[in-house]
Amino acid sequence: MYTVSDLNKDLQVLASQGAKVFTVGYSELGRPIKCIFKGATDGPQILVQGAIHAREWVTAQLCVLLAERYTGSCGLWCIPMSNPDGVMLCQYGLDSVADSDRRDFLYRVNGYNKDFSLWKANARAVDLNVNFNALWGTGKSNLTYPAPANYIGPYPFSESESRMLAEFTDKVRPIYTVSYHARGRVIYYGFDGLNPDPEIPSLASAVTGYPAYTSEGSAGGYKDWFVLIARKAGITVEVGNEYTPYDELQKELPAMLEENGGLLDALSRRAAEQTRDR
Ligand SMILES: [Zn+2]
Repeated sequence: MYTVSDLNKDLQVLASQGAKVFTVGYSELGRPIKCIFKGATDGPQILVQGAIHAREWVTAQLCVLLAERYTGSCGLWCIPMSNPDGVMLCQYGLDSVADSDRRDFLYRVNGYNKDFSLWKANARAVDLNVNFNALWGTGKSNLTYPAPANYIGPYPFSESESRMLAEFTDKVRPIYTVSYHARGRVIYYGFDGLNPDPEIPSLASAVTGYPAYTSEGSAGGYKDWFVLIARKAGITVEVGNEYTPYDELQKELPAMLEENGGLLDALSRRAAEQTRDR
C-alpha cells in the first residue's frame, strides 16, 4: 500500500531536500491536500496531480518519485494525492470514516459491501474526475446518483477537492497539466475537438512509449476542464498494465518510473524553448 502517512513521510524527506511542501486545500472530511513545489516561480509552470481516483493510489507514490527526480527549470507544482478521503476509504474501509451517518451512507452506496478496494469516488460518493465544469454530465459513463464510481455530483464543482484543483490551477496558470491515473499505459489529450498544443501528446508519447489518443466520450474531468478553460495542453497519463489488479499495481512502480521518469523534465525543456521563441 501507499497510505496518507507514507505520503507524509515522503513529503518530509522531500522538504528536507529543499522542495517546498505545503497544504493546498482540504478534502470533504477535512484532510489536508498536499502540494510539492520545485523550480522557479517565474516563467512557465507545470502542474501534476495524482490519485484523484481512490483505487489508483499508486499514482500518488509515482507522483512523489517523479517530483523527487525532477530537475527542470520550470516551476513544478505536484499534488500527489488529490483525493485523500477516497484513498483512505479504499485502503481502510469504513474504519477511516469517523461519522456514523456517513459510514451508513457509504456502506449503502457500496452495496452493503465492506470491501472498498475498488472505490474511485470521494467520501461523498462523487467521482471527482467527472465533477469539473466541462460539458458536465454529458460523459458516456456518467451517473446521476451516489456511487463508488462515475457519479457527477449534484452540480459542477460541488466537491471541495475539485474546487481546490480548479482554484489552484487558476492561481498557478500552468502551461501544461499532467494527470496521473491507472491503468492501461496510454495517454489521453484534448477535449471536445480542442487540441491546443498537439506537439505535447506526441512528445509525451515519445518519452513514455505510451500511445496517445483523444479522449472520446469524456466530460467533466480535470484535464477536460483545463483544456477547455486554459486552451493549453492537458494530458492524462494512465500507468500500469491494463489487467493488473489495482492493489497489485505497486509492483509495476519500477516500470512506471522508467517510462515516466523523463516526462516532466522533457515538458520543462519544451516549455522553456516555447517561451524563448515567443
Ligand atoms: Zn482514474
